[in-house]
Amino acid sequence: MITVRAPAKINLQLAVGPLRSDGFHELVSVFHAVDLVDEVTVSESTAGITISIEGEGAADLPVDDSNLAVRAARLLADHHGVEPNAHIAIRKTIPVAAGMAGGSADAAAVLVACDGLWRTGTDRQTLLSLAARLGSDVPFALMGGTAIGTGRGEQLTPVLTNGSLHWVFAIAEEGLSTPAVYAEFDRLHPHPNDPEVSVALLQALRTGEATSVGRHLSNNLQAAALSLRPGLGQLLDAGTDFGALGAVVCGSGPTCAFLTRDTETAIDLAVSLMSTGLCRTVKRGTGPATGVR
Ligand code: C5P
Repeated sequence: MITVRAPAKINLQLAVGPLRSDGFHELVSVFHAVDLVDEVTVSESTAGITISIEGEGAADLPVDDSNLAVRAARLLADHHGVEPNAHIAIRKTIPVAAGMAGGSADAAAVLVACDGLWRTGTDRQTLLSLAARLGSDVPFALMGGTAIGTGRGEQLTPVLTNGSLHWVFAIAEEGLSTPAVYAEFDRLHPHPNDPEVSVALLQALRTGEATSVGRHLSNNLQAAALSLRPGLGQLLDAGTDFGALGAVVCGSGPTCAFLTRDTETAIDLAVSLMSTGLCRTVKRGTGPATGVR
C-alpha cells in the first residue's frame, strides 16, 4: 500500500493565446502549488483498477474509467506492459471543478503511487510525458513549486521565488466547466494576442514581496469566468475591500484566490469573506508547496 499527496495549483498569471488546431489554447501560465492536498492511496488488488473517493465533492466525481485517476493508472500499466491491478482510494481536500486542478493532482498522484506499487521504476522525464498525455495541468502537479508553463501548459520551467505566500481561497457553491470557460474566452476574444510571461510578476516572486506579487496577479480567463458567473466580480471586490494584496480567479474558476501578508491577516480575511455570503466556503493555504510526494 502506498500513499502520496498531491497539491492544488493556482495560476499567478494565466495568459491565454490563440486556439490551436488541436483544440487547445496556446498559453503562458505561472503555476503555483499550494498546500491544499488530496491524499491518494493505492493498494494491491486482483480486480483490475477500482476507485473510491471520499471527502469534499466526492459524490460529484465519476468512479469509472472516465475518472482521470483511473486513466492515469491504465496509462502507466500500458506503458510498462504490466497487469492493471490496483485499488485507488482518494481523500479529497482540493475542491472539485474549482479551477485548482484537483483532478490533475489526483492523476499525478496515481502515476507516482502505482509506479511504486508495481515497482516499475519510471524515470522523471517519462512520468512527466505520461502526465502531459493525461492533461495540461498534470505535469505541474508532479513538479510543484512555482513554474512557468508554456505550450498548452505542459512545458515547465521552474521559477525562482523567495519566502512563502499566504492565500485565502473562496470556493463557490457550484463548479465551472473548463471547456465552457475557454469557449466563452473565444467568444469574448476572437483574436487574442500571443501570450507573454509577466516580467514584473517574476521579479516580484524573486524578491518575495507579497505586495508586489499581489499587484501583478493576472488571469485573462477571468473575464470569461465572470461572464458565466457574474457574482464572482462582487466576491473579488469584497476581498480587495477587506485588504487583500491581490485577488484573482483561479484558472478557469470559479474559486477566487486572495493574497495576504501573513497567516493572521489570512484568518481575518477568511472570516470576512465568509460573512459576505458570496461563497460556499473558504480555505487557507500557503505556497509554494512541493509536488507529488
Ligand atoms: O488538458 P485538460 O484536459 O486539463 O483541458 C481541459 C479543457 O480545457 C480542454 O478540453 C480545452 O477545452 C481547455 N484547454 C484549452 N487550452 C489549454 C488547456 C485547456 O483550451 N491550454
